[in-house]
Amino acid sequence: MNIPFLDLKAQYEAIKEEIMAATIEVYQSQKFILGPKVEELERKVATYTQVKHAVGVSSGTDALLISLMSTGIGPGDLVITSPYTFFSTAGSIVRVGAIPVFVDIDYITYNIDPEKLEKKISSMNARGRSRLKAIIPVHLFGQCADMDNITAIAKSLGVLIIEDAAQAIGAECKYSDGSLKRAGSMGNYGCFSFFPSKNLGSFGDGGMVTTNDEGIFQRLKIMRVHGSQPKYYHKVVGGNFRLDALQAAILLVKLNYLEQWTEKRRQNARIYRELFAEKTIEEIEVPAENEGRHIYNQFVLKVDNDRDELKRYLTNQGIGCEIYYPVPLHIQECFQYLGYRPEDCPVSIEAAAKTLSLPIYAELRYEQIEYIVDKIGSFLGNKRAS
Ligand SMILES: *Cc1c(COP(=O)(O)O)cnc(C)c1O
Repeated sequence: MNIPFLDLKAQYEAIKEEIMAATIEVYQSQKFILGPKVEELERKVATYTQVKHAVGVSSGTDALLISLMSTGIGPGDLVITSPYTFFSTAGSIVRVGAIPVFVDIDYITYNIDPEKLEKKISSMNARGRSRLKAIIPVHLFGQCADMDNITAIAKSLGVLIIEDAAQAIGAECKYSDGSLKRAGSMGNYGCFSFFPSKNLGSFGDGGMVTTNDEGIFQRLKIMRVHGSQPKYYHKVVGGNFRLDALQAAILLVKLNYLEQWTEKRRQNARIYRELFAEKTIEEIEVPAENEGRHIYNQFVLKVDNDRDELKRYLTNQGIGCEIYYPVPLHIQECFQYLGYRPEDCPVSIEAAAKTLSLPIYAELRYEQIEYIVDKIGSFLGNKRAS
């Protein structure tokens, strides 16, 4: 059986006519940059993520970059983030001239560990603390970081929170008072990506910044068009961070299906869990769900031994699987100048050695999941026997 890691063609087949109709509308309007489709998407994404405002931008990376640019954070400033994430979380910090400070993750959720965050901050001297301007927690794989504690820490220090919610549209975080809050609604900025492999994916690049702050909202809209306000008058330097109307039209169609797709992903995760439990494979750990809502952009196993061998075996069996992420950011070559050693973030190092992502998309069928679990079971069973 051939099971791709992600099957976007199956999704497209199901909504082809609607997509065609929506894009033809844009062709006929000949309005390609920003405009009514982008505004409609902004309103609907704001509603979906339970925030007041949303600003459509050119990618998830640009969502992070424009957020940082609009804060005025720059040379000499420190921004705390996770080393176990996609590159652009830290890349955008460096692009505004600031210094990323890596705080290790929690081994269960893969998200930044609030205890380690506190430790890192208390180890800073007064000068360091005064240079600390923001924290970028990442809601990795579709599960929220511990925002209850992280926002409390940020508030006590008076620093901003920029949520990297690129993988987490529709994810929810449970607070100790029992409330559930959506990804992108808890910090000062929420950054989303519409990269095709995200739960809400465009036919190209796209992104969104969410905020509850009117001032931030206005600044973002100006930064998105080179800082011009009114046109051709520039008080600040922004960039071309615009989302285009074709992407917005496609995303508007897809947004109608997002809840349904997300529930399918969650159901697939439950099926994996049940099937793995039946097999009691000790070398495998399925992803843990905290009390919030995990939207499973990725379904990530921990494989105790032989992760790379298992990946090769599954690939040979026609089962797509991926490693997110093989190299934590604190040991990336381009960040050598920051002076981190691998052991500074040991949990990220261990996660990078053990994680393996399996197919989880909505169109995946029960028999396919069964097949994947069977293959993993027989591979590890054979290893044990030999
Ligand atoms: C995808 C992703 C980004 C970047 O989004 P792009 O749209 O690809 O630029 C940033 N952070 C995380 C955690 C991501 O998964």
